[in-house]
Amino acid sequence: MEAPFALMLATGNPHKAKELEALLSDWSVELHTARDLQEPPVVVEDADTLEGNARKKAVEWFEAVDTAVLADDTGLEVKALDGRPGVHSARFAGPAADDAANRAALLTALQGKADRAAQFRTVLAFNDGTSVRLFEGICRGRLLTEERGTRGFGYDALFVPAGYERTFAELPPDEKNRISHRGRALESFVAFLRTYPPAASARP
Ligand code: IMP
Repeated sequence: MEAPFALMLATGNPHKAKELEALLSDWSVELHTARDLQEPPVVVEDADTLEGNARKKAVEWFEAVDTAVLADDTGLEVKALDGRPGVHSARFAGPAADDAANRAALLTALQGKADRAAQFRTVLAFNDGTSVRLFEGICRGRLLTEERGTRGFGYDALFVPAGYERTFAELPPDEKNRISHRGRALESFVAFLRTYPPAASARP
């Protein structure tokens, strides 16, 4: 069998790295993460779209590590808030906000709003040094009025995916991965990998 090709996951978020690693585990790629680096690149995520930020991360990480890179940017798009927080999801409660503060800010912003529809959207950017290719994944659902569940991260405890009664924070990780925005974007990426040179990628 030919050697797998090396792929750097351009994220310092251990939750995301774990999800991406699980989702790519059947695929013959040699995965690297920020854990393998002494000084992972710090990218200022100042683009005004998820696409722009994902592309920026993929470009700057490739410059730093000289290995094919897969970067991700995700946002929660809430209908009653005209798509906010969207690209600003990580800083909804302010510049130094943590996940709990962002969830609290979201609940406050949605107080009194009957329409709880929302979607997570992930954009993956793959940069192999020749070009940057983008892949999108969307998971639709609704937001609760209080948190439920202790798994996951970010807004998971408030989000119930369409067709489910449990939040992402209540679902087992493999179930979240199967239906999530990141999982769906990864599916598109994996479909692309089937035709991607080098043919080294073993095809399950
Ligand atoms: P970023 O892609 O790291 O910029 O994430 C943007 C924001 O969305 C952060 O607040 C994350 O915690 C949140 N987020 C990203 N992915 C998920 C997810 O799968 N579930 C819940 N929240 C997420």
